[in-house]
Amino acid sequence: MSKKIPYRFYLSEDQMPKQWYNLRADMKEQPDPLLNPATLQPLKEEDLYPIFCKELAHQEMDSETRYIDIPEEIQEMYKIYRPSPLIRAYNLEKELDTPAKIYYKFEGNNTSGSHKLNSAIAQAYYAKKQGLTSLTTETGAGQWGTALSEACAYFGIPLTVYMVKCSYEQKPFRKAVMQTFDADVIPSPSDTTVVGRKILAENPGTTGSLGCAISEAVEKATTTEGCRYVLGSVLNQVLLHQSVIGLEAKTAMELLEEYPDVVVGCAGGGSNLGGLIAPFMRDKIVDNKNIRIVAVEPASCPSFTRGKYAYDFCDTGMVTPMAKMYTLGSGFIPSANHAGGLRYHGMSPILSKLYHDGLMEAVSYEQTKVFEAAKLFARVETILPAPESSHAIKGAIDEALKCKETGEEKTILFGLTGTGYFDMTAYSAFHDGTMIDYIPTDEDLQKGFDKLPKIDR
Ligand SMILES: *Cc1c(COP(=O)(O)O)cnc(C)c1O
Repeated sequence: MSKKIPYRFYLSEDQMPKQWYNLRADMKEQPDPLLNPATLQPLKEEDLYPIFCKELAHQEMDSETRYIDIPEEIQEMYKIYRPSPLIRAYNLEKELDTPAKIYYKFEGNNTSGSHKLNSAIAQAYYAKKQGLTSLTTETGAGQWGTALSEACAYFGIPLTVYMVKCSYEQKPFRKAVMQTFDADVIPSPSDTTVVGRKILAENPGTTGSLGCAISEAVEKATTTEGCRYVLGSVLNQVLLHQSVIGLEAKTAMELLEEYPDVVVGCAGGGSNLGGLIAPFMRDKIVDNKNIRIVAVEPASCPSFTRGKYAYDFCDTGMVTPMAKMYTLGSGFIPSANHAGGLRYHGMSPILSKLYHDGLMEAVSYEQTKVFEAAKLFARVETILPAPESSHAIKGAIDEALKCKETGEEKTILFGLTGTGYFDMTAYSAFHDGTMIDYIPTDEDLQKGFDKLPKIDR
């Protein structure tokens, strides 16, 4: 007799992970090293000290330590909003009339509304421990800025957030949340940095870009004593912190005597997906488990499905180290009418390597299809999903519909990364029919590829 699986399943506090899992330790081949843009030589840990605090620089380069202790103070804060529930989507299954079992891990139960808090806490903690006196970052849609504001307020470390000007103006409530946590929120480009003043002089009316906000944040960090710059996705250290998602999900499924046949997640820079799949990818690599991993990305910013696997800069300003990854080129700017999130030109080097080696798959969807999935999901599961997360919903629905055709009773697990309450402008555009599906042409993409650095390795 199989036992009745509850709608929502929570681990107890003492079942929560006490260590993060570093997937690199089990990868047969490592991702290619980060390169110093000036010398084109592989970076050493010390080279990262001016940018990241030491412990995080160490985590970034550490491809050997399989399990890394989560410091007590971080575990304490995780307990305020974790474990996150593993939810059995009974209603969605019924709606789709599928024999598949659908589970999702919901990361939206905190003020930041997304999984980003899992890494923000770790980054703020290590900065505080090293005695740094302030942090700086950029935010586009605003989730990362919100998460980091919360974490910095908790550990008592001042934060400056450069927020892309058009978001600053369109999402005043995001700014107000960050201010509640005492962050200094500056619309970018601004007159507070040399690079910001230069950009403003050249384009007085500009509404800013992520690349420009990164350049301002990096300048602030490198010109301010005791200040460092932090990033909310893409990096190895961020995927490491996000492994709590996958570790909790795997323990919960084991307790329910379940195991996924397919794991689906949305991919912007790859942090939630990398965290969710980490322990399952381990099983695939080490134990030869027959499990499929599917990344879902927007058709308007298709890094995996149409990008090139090449060395590229991580930012538009070309000041950061270079990473080998699936990229559309650091100059690629996704269409302005693409709603919220998943707009990054590149992809986590770890996930890029796994995809390149055939260990995972990727699909892309147009945004109106994604919002149709979001609407259906909200109606039956009563959670209003973030547009980013809705890509994973759409991917999971399509997997479940395939099972309906074949009659297979597969178990699907997907990552529901957050809620969409600050994205109602996009929802409105979807409801009133003004949302546009933009897919870049091959010529559009070629412009980005033409500007890739020419590196022969
Ligand atoms: C930032 C964000 C993402 C995408 O980031 P990844 O690093 O690819 O995980 C997805 N969902 C939500 C809700 C986000 O805030």
